[in-house]
Amino acid sequence: MAGAGRKGAILAIDQGTTSTRAMIFDALGGVLARVQAELRQHFPAEGWVEHEPEDIWRDTLQVCREALAKAGLGAADLAAIGITNQRETTIVWERATGKPVHRAIVWQDRRTAEACKRLAEAGHGKLAAERTGLVIDAYFSASKIAWILDQVPGARARAEAGELAFGTVDCFLLWRLTSGRSHRTDATNAARTLLYDIRRQQWDDDLLKLFRVPRALLPEVMDNAADFGTTDPAILGAAVPVAGMAGDQQAATVGQVCFEAGQIKSTYGTGCFALLNTGGTFVPSKNRLLTTIAYRLAGRATYALEGSIFAAGSTIQWLRDGLKLIRSAGETEMLARGGAGTGNVFLVPAFTGLGAPYWDPFARGAILGLTRDTGIADIVRAGLEAVCFQTGDLMGAMADDFGKAPTTLRVDGGMTVNDWVMQRLADLLGVPVERPVVTETTALGAAFLAGLQVGVFPSLDALASLWARDRRFEPAMPESERTRRRQGWADAVRRVRSDG
Ligand code: ADP
Repeated sequence: MAGAGRKGAILAIDQGTTSTRAMIFDALGGVLARVQAELRQHFPAEGWVEHEPEDIWRDTLQVCREALAKAGLGAADLAAIGITNQRETTIVWERATGKPVHRAIVWQDRRTAEACKRLAEAGHGKLAAERTGLVIDAYFSASKIAWILDQVPGARARAEAGELAFGTVDCFLLWRLTSGRSHRTDATNAARTLLYDIRRQQWDDDLLKLFRVPRALLPEVMDNAADFGTTDPAILGAAVPVAGMAGDQQAATVGQVCFEAGQIKSTYGTGCFALLNTGGTFVPSKNRLLTTIAYRLAGRATYALEGSIFAAGSTIQWLRDGLKLIRSAGETEMLARGGAGTGNVFLVPAFTGLGAPYWDPFARGAILGLTRDTGIADIVRAGLEAVCFQTGDLMGAMADDFGKAPTTLRVDGGMTVNDWVMQRLADLLGVPVERPVVTETTALGAAFLAGLQVGVFPSLDALASLWARDRRFEPAMPESERTRRRQGWADAVRRVRSDG
């Protein structure tokens, strides 16, 4: 165990898709500093999304240094560093220089969709699902790595000769922070590559062959709380152990202390990601949810079912920027509260198709149930409710796969400041909704993992006792009303489906 530092302060690096954030937490999980930098997006072709790895590195250094200054701390005061990151985003770099051979290919990038479709059509989906819990899709790292090796001149030969390294953003940042001494990742990030067997906890030779990825590229896979390496003192001013690491949704699960099987966390940002802890059991999905590692501690994996809603906060952005019905997202709460409303207007935000459990990429959105007296408030309310109904669909699929209905839902993300939505979520799910005091659960989870490793936090139970509730929303809608509304939603969905 490394020294616990003057104050047991922990620096969390949260490298997200649109921004890079540094937060410093004290030994009670309280926030000492928070600094954020927007990350530039590159769209070189239709469906392509890239980040400049040097931007990611520069921003990371800048936000870490500013956060330390803000907290009035030096790097020597830090007990540890935790890293959490946008998952699946792929970087390949030269081992000798640390220089990337191509920009980072971001998880949203669809350039390898055709290649993945061919593999799926050739019947490899079953193998992938059994080993990785995932579907063969361009989101995950494997096909992105192959693309870089095929498109960058000489890259494949150099990869086979061991001259190149692959990593997701966590791994790239660790490499840079340790000046190339540590080429490691954690089990949750490895679990999103389509190359890692999440039951046997090892890189899978069959999948490496299928996706044509040389083993020489790959990092060592560690537990989520582990000795990942120590920062080069020249970088932050002192050597600090990097002791925690997890992909963003998994870090949020830890930050929400969902350590019991059956607990769910759901993050409401642009889209929404829900993870259900299924304990030590790998639960395959009949509803095309993903099976993944929630976290791995002391060599033991805890699994999760994961589902996502494509349009959550983005529906509100559309009401604001597309329809111009509102000037700010915050206005929606007042509008939704005002007026009685019949509750018969439904907005299905299938802007890019419908996700789990429908999986209809050709469905398109609709607003249904309009009458002569429908007003702006009804449409806004329907947009907010759509997020609740979709969560209900996702939780239904999870309950079906897991064999048990969840008892509470822990929420975080930008949308959860809206009390009306949180109450409506509880009402329409028929399950209490809990909102924590610290809603930056992703960074908090990374700090928890790092602190666990260096002894700032003695156990998972100690972490669970640090989780503080801001508010619990109890379901108050009569059962008959809930059923009527959910049937109305099911009807609306049926009408927008391309196959129905
Ligand atoms: P991301 O991390 O995906 O960028 P955030 O967690 O920052 O997203 O959440 C931002 C989203 O939350 C935006 O899409 C915005 O429309 C939505 N949002 C913010 N405030 C409210 C509010 N009061 N009511 C409803 N939605 C909101």
